[in-house]
Amino acid sequence: MKLYSTLDREVVQIKPLVDNTISIYNCGPTVYFNMHIGNIRAYINWDILYRAFLYLGYDVNRVMNLTDVGHMTADEDFGEDKIEKSASSEGVKPIEIANRYIRSVLADFRKMNILSPSGEEIDPNMDLGKLKEIGFLRATEYINEMIEMIKKIEKNGYAYETKQALYFDISKIPDYTIFTGQSLDEKAEGVREEVNVDPDKHHPADFVLWMKRVGKYENHIMHWKSPWGDGFPGWHIECSAMGTTVLGDKFDIHTGGIDNMSVHHPNERAQNIGTYGRPVVSYWIHNEWVVMGDDSKMSKSSGKSFLLEDILKMGFNPLDLRYLYSSVKYNMKLNFSKEALEGARNSRLALINRLTELKKKSSGQDGKILPSYVKKFKEYLDDCLNISKVLALINEIIKSNEKPEDILTTIYDFDRVLGLDLEVSLVENGLSIPDSVLELVEKREEARKGKNFKLADSLRDQIMNMGYRVVDTSDGFNIEEI
Ligand SMILES: [Zn+2]
Repeated sequence: MKLYSTLDREVVQIKPLVDNTISIYNCGPTVYFNMHIGNIRAYINWDILYRAFLYLGYDVNRVMNLTDVGHMTADEDFGEDKIEKSASSEGVKPIEIANRYIRSVLADFRKMNILSPSGEEIDPNMDLGKLKEIGFLRATEYINEMIEMIKKIEKNGYAYETKQALYFDISKIPDYTIFTGQSLDEKAEGVREEVNVDPDKHHPADFVLWMKRVGKYENHIMHWKSPWGDGFPGWHIECSAMGTTVLGDKFDIHTGGIDNMSVHHPNERAQNIGTYGRPVVSYWIHNEWVVMGDDSKMSKSSGKSFLLEDILKMGFNPLDLRYLYSSVKYNMKLNFSKEALEGARNSRLALINRLTELKKKSSGQDGKILPSYVKKFKEYLDDCLNISKVLALINEIIKSNEKPEDILTTIYDFDRVLGLDLEVSLVENGLSIPDSVLELVEKREEARKGKNFKLADSLRDQIMNMGYRVVDTSDGFNIEEI
């Protein structure tokens, strides 16, 4: 497979360390708030990446972290711990915040048909003690591994201690700013504030490996014993420690958002070099942001963001969002608007309609997967996950003269990567709607044709009350369960 590699600054052929096996570490969410749909984009991209590797015949070892300690506000060393801040404002313990928002992440992932890192369908009500078994790693469960790694970094001469913290000395990593190409002086300018907080810090961009429970953090609730005193780990060490513990001291792919390119990932890479004397990750892959009309990033702090919940209330299906996100390559900005989402919904429903028609025409026997289309499908996956070409290919197959059952079987096979639940949607959409609802839908169509829009609207409301929604499309309408 070819992917855009940030450090190579170009699209490269991914060459795994071990033949036919791919190891992937996904930087995951900090669990202190409900994700907005901008955050969710990354996880859909990496879900498709994972499914694509499986489809192409690889064995995949994959994990994703859940940050439940040490991530400070504004990504600073001396901010407030995001989890503890939420906990104190809500008057509960940090672990309650972490558990609550882990459940929220699991629920969103399930709705979006995102598999667990190890490939299972996610049960949002699962026992949280079993997260590790399905590839989700909680930072607080790897404190010992973090301490062991920090000890090595210190022993290798990459760290220094002040009264407040143990720091990584970035002057020891000559290509520290390799991700952005920024000069270290520019970088220093950006983090100058921090020198004021700890006057013993050598370089403004040196970062915390271990924060002591002193001064500002005297009352930090989450804390552990360590060779540098009672305290808690810096944010970045968790990914280095968990990645190398679970995937080994060399692995293939590490993903994250482009916002990780200036601080989090240079720090992770520095820690890896500090521990092993060489880099650990072969390919760093970054996803672009979801932007709004004026090209600004969708973010919680800007106040311009939608939760998954919000778009469901607007009448969308979570898979409409998945369809929209799939159609844009992960390394391109994605412009989100209600109109774009409506477009995706129409395309998804039109696809289901066509498949429903094919199902009616099919012999009812098992079809076969059409090899010439599989070849093209694989080519498009290989090309940086070009799903928009896959969607066009699906339309091409539908219009072909192949047998309906073969067309359906081939498209269901592709859906193992797309994750649009096409077969299930087909059943819901075409085959299981009660007659009473269908009668109302027919009456509504007649009313619309006769331009009696008032009656049509009232019939639409009645249909809604029965748990269904009629969605008009360019070539007719669809009926969806609410
Ligand atoms: Zn990370």
